[in-house]
Amino acid sequence: MTRAGASGGPLPRDGAVVIVGAALGGLRAAQALREGGFTGSLIMVGDEVHHPYDRPPLSKQVLAGTWPPERAALVDRQRLGELGIDLRLGQRAGALDAEARRVTLDDGTVLGADGVVVATGARPRRLRGTEALHGVAVVRTLDDCEHLRRRILEAGPGCRVVVVGAGFIGSEVAATCAGLGCDVTVLEALPTPLEPAVGELVGAALGALHARHGVDLRTSASVAAVHERAAPSGAPYEVELADGEVLPADVVVVGIGVVPNTEWLEGSGLDIADGVVCDEALFAADGVVCAGDLCRWTWRHAGDVQSIRIEHWELASQMGTAAARGLLAGRAEAEPFDPVPYFWSEQYGVRIQVLGHPERTDEVVVLDGALDAEDGRFVAVYARDGRLSAALAVSRPRQLMAFRPLLVAGASVAEAMEVLPAKG
Ligand SMILES: Cc1cc2nc3c(=O)[nH]c(=O)nc-3n(C[C@H](O)[C@H](O)[C@H](O)COP(=O)(O)OP(=O)(O)OC[C@H]3O[C@@H](n4cnc5c(N)ncnc54)[C@H](O)[C@@H]3O)c2cc1C
Repeated sequence: MTRAGASGGPLPRDGAVVIVGAALGGLRAAQALREGGFTGSLIMVGDEVHHPYDRPPLSKQVLAGTWPPERAALVDRQRLGELGIDLRLGQRAGALDAEARRVTLDDGTVLGADGVVVATGARPRRLRGTEALHGVAVVRTLDDCEHLRRRILEAGPGCRVVVVGAGFIGSEVAATCAGLGCDVTVLEALPTPLEPAVGELVGAALGALHARHGVDLRTSASVAAVHERAAPSGAPYEVELADGEVLPADVVVVGIGVVPNTEWLEGSGLDIADGVVCDEALFAADGVVCAGDLCRWTWRHAGDVQSIRIEHWELASQMGTAAARGLLAGRAEAEPFDPVPYFWSEQYGVRIQVLGHPERTDEVVVLDGALDAEDGRFVAVYARDGRLSAALAVSRPRQLMAFRPLLVAGASVAEAMEVLPAKG
């Protein structure tokens, strides 16, 4: 039987769509489907019990206690109701048959659809041997965040926090914990923090924020083991470094990257390789699209072709919208997804923003301020093969956005150097 929407054709507007993953990518897909005139059945399955919420505040305002958890909601209940979604929370999808477009939940429910949106995101990588230790935390979910905040408050003022990993999330957690009056040490295995994301020069400049705020950043520091025992210092944990040093800790937070949630797709017929492999328009198969942290798509931009997976809020949001529009149009007519990636981070009251996709080997040119400036503000651009590849600003939002059209156009570095609008 040939079903409507099969073989790359458009989605029937009164058909059925199943969205797996009830968070940012999934919600944006649901919103775009309705905005695009889809009136059919829309089921959204999520294994968390919470209504869709936002993750960026978890390492910032919610952990700090300046926002109640409810403020992290991605959409209010009334708007959610208006979307007419059959929301299946606390339910896990266990399998997909991509060809038949059939999703099977862990409780045995089988959901048939004309279109499927896969948006199951990613989960934190754990430090081997610490999975069962209650005081070794990660920050991905609201529950993780509330658990960590409770442990810090229970330990009281001067709580000794050891953060493993000085990536963006580890750095944000360190900054927030320092703001809560904790005694924070950050352990980074690389010689320079954030080097894979923003290169060595900028990584060193951003890493210097920790010391300026009284946080002890140790680079080239590897963790050998975490022990749960009553240390002479009274701390419940001891973090043993590869060089033999032992750090007492009330709380250990692990921020060493994420793993895409693709296990449930084994045997689905989709191509899985550090994410779900998708074409230029985010299709993993006819009638099956992906969005968010688990999506590895073919990105064609300014003459380059990359198979790439990026874990940023703005991109997950844009992908949700683009994937739904593609599903509505059908694979044969879907538009390629060609964004200007954007992400931000907030640490110690400083806002770091990045447009484009820097690589560690790109040349870096500082256009305003200085990497070691007292006020910490600067604007830098990244160049690859003579072309602008990214721009990064620390507390200079207006200046950053001026580079957007140049990144869209694949401008040269010389052209980028001419653009430096008024500060701000
Ligand atoms: C603490 C934190 C701070 C961040 N801060 C920033 C920031 O400042 N700036 C920025 O650009 N980005 C930030 N990010 C990244 C951003 O939040 C993510 O890129 C974004 O949440 C990805 O959305 P997603 O929908 O792809 O996946 P997720 O948000 O991971 O959602 C996927 C959902 O699917 C569920 N799921 C998984 N498997 C199944 C299954 N089999 N069945 C049903 N449901 C399933 C998951 O439990 C989850 O609820 C931050 C992330 C975190 C964790």
